[in-house]
Amino acid sequence: MTAINQSGWRPTTPAQGGNAAPTFTGNKALMLEEPLIFEIGGSETSGVEIAPPATNVNRLGGLARSAPIGLPGLSEPETVRHYTRLSRQNYAIDLGLFPLGSCTMKHNPRLNEKMARLPGFADVHPLQPIDTVQGALEVIQQLAHWLVTLTGMHSVAMSPKAGAHGELCGILAIKAALEKRGEGHRKVILVPESAHGTNPATAAFAGFSVEDIPADADGRVDTAALKARLGPDVAGVMITNPNTCGLFERDLKTISEAVHAAGGYVYCDGANFNAIVGRVRPGDLGVDAMHINLHKTFSTPHGGGGPGSGPVVFSERLTPFAPLPFVEKQGDHFVLVEEETAQDHHADSFGRMTAFHGQMGMFTRALTYILSHGADGLRQVAEDAVLNANYVLRSLDDVLDAPFAASGPCMHEAIFSDRGFAEGFSTIDVAKALIDEGFHPMTMYFPLVVHGAMLVEPTETESKATLDQFIGALRSVAERARAGDETLRTAPHFAPRSRLDETLAARKPKLVWQEPETAAVAAE
Ligand SMILES: *Cc1c(COP(=O)(O)O)cnc(C)c1O
Repeated sequence: MTAINQSGWRPTTPAQGGNAAPTFTGNKALMLEEPLIFEIGGSETSGVEIAPPATNVNRLGGLARSAPIGLPGLSEPETVRHYTRLSRQNYAIDLGLFPLGSCTMKHNPRLNEKMARLPGFADVHPLQPIDTVQGALEVIQQLAHWLVTLTGMHSVAMSPKAGAHGELCGILAIKAALEKRGEGHRKVILVPESAHGTNPATAAFAGFSVEDIPADADGRVDTAALKARLGPDVAGVMITNPNTCGLFERDLKTISEAVHAAGGYVYCDGANFNAIVGRVRPGDLGVDAMHINLHKTFSTPHGGGGPGSGPVVFSERLTPFAPLPFVEKQGDHFVLVEEETAQDHHADSFGRMTAFHGQMGMFTRALTYILSHGADGLRQVAEDAVLNANYVLRSLDDVLDAPFAASGPCMHEAIFSDRGFAEGFSTIDVAKALIDEGFHPMTMYFPLVVHGAMLVEPTETESKATLDQFIGALRSVAERARAGDETLRTAPHFAPRSRLDETLAARKPKLVWQEPETAAVAAE
């Protein structure tokens, strides 16, 4: 193993008890400090200098602006450097391992990007005549076919734009189905304690009341408690599988049968399909609706590099209520069905999730990924994701408490707790010290069922060498937490900023720059 700093962390600056002098610039070698753009370029200067044309005739009358607009004036190189320096302060999947659990931060293959940039895909407009976008519709239809086949379900709605948006789509279909049956009074959605936070939020947003179902000692849904709560007021259940403890819900089939017998529907949160794709078909487990995150399982970029895409697969009984539009092949022609008709299979559609058809760029990337792996390759994806997570789990369970280690192998993510740390040390100290080690921290304090949880999802795209480096770093930091190393409490020491008040920053963000004098006057 290529260990980075096996001997442990060494202080370097005076603040850390070391002897390196602070630099004149505040920069730390190639780690550059960067002020705000307003602090670099004053609003009284301009990045370009063009003399006013001699023939200028002002036609604005009294509407001409009299005060300067207040934008910072920077030259082109200053502007380019500002944004390039800022971009270097970002951590990204192209830079290193991103162990965030429940996020599946896997590599985004460059082939996907190449295909998405083909002008025939990149430049299409949703209002173009259908005859001119046959190729794009074929991509949507082929991807839809793969998703339906891989999940063993009946149909798919392609338009939802994220996992949470897909949950809403599935729950709205369940609501429409209940109303059609004259059972709109079923208002309770059961959600296990170990569910992703978006599940209860979605159910509440759609007008249902949410009731928790406890987890059993080995981290899975307490099936007996769930069955006991079923009844004529229950609309359905939302179950994450594999769940957020990184475990497969082995009883899902039994649960589905019980829920159906009691008149409810089964929503499965399939964001973690990565761990079972090619191995398990949710349709065989009695699932009625499930979203798939293309930005997780099928390697399209997340967030800033996104946008996301969360298609929802439906069982036969929910298909009539699925949203519009959908792509259909008629002869050798692809059509976009925009309105429900009594004869078609979306006869009771609840409506639309989006104005148009969904995230075309993500469809192209996901289909590229699927075709470049093939059916056998996708199965390998799941197996390797599970193998990598178990490698992390078993490599660290002597220094980190692994609460479900006795429940058998994990799925795509390994979960640890803060048990065994010295008094006063917590998960955040370990996460912050990982930044010093050059890694993005793992997911912390989630799921809530584990005290001081650390959820690590390496994904299948990491090599053994990278995993070994990460394991070495986490082992070293965990040993410091067990030993009560005080320097851990103020980590990170090498990042541009140390411990920020993240709650304050999120709740009261300062979004408007104020000139220092104005700010000083305002404060008086
Ligand atoms: C990521 C995730 C979601 C939410 O997906 P978004 O695309 O971020 O809205 C929901 N459930 C689980 C289990 C997830 O991992």
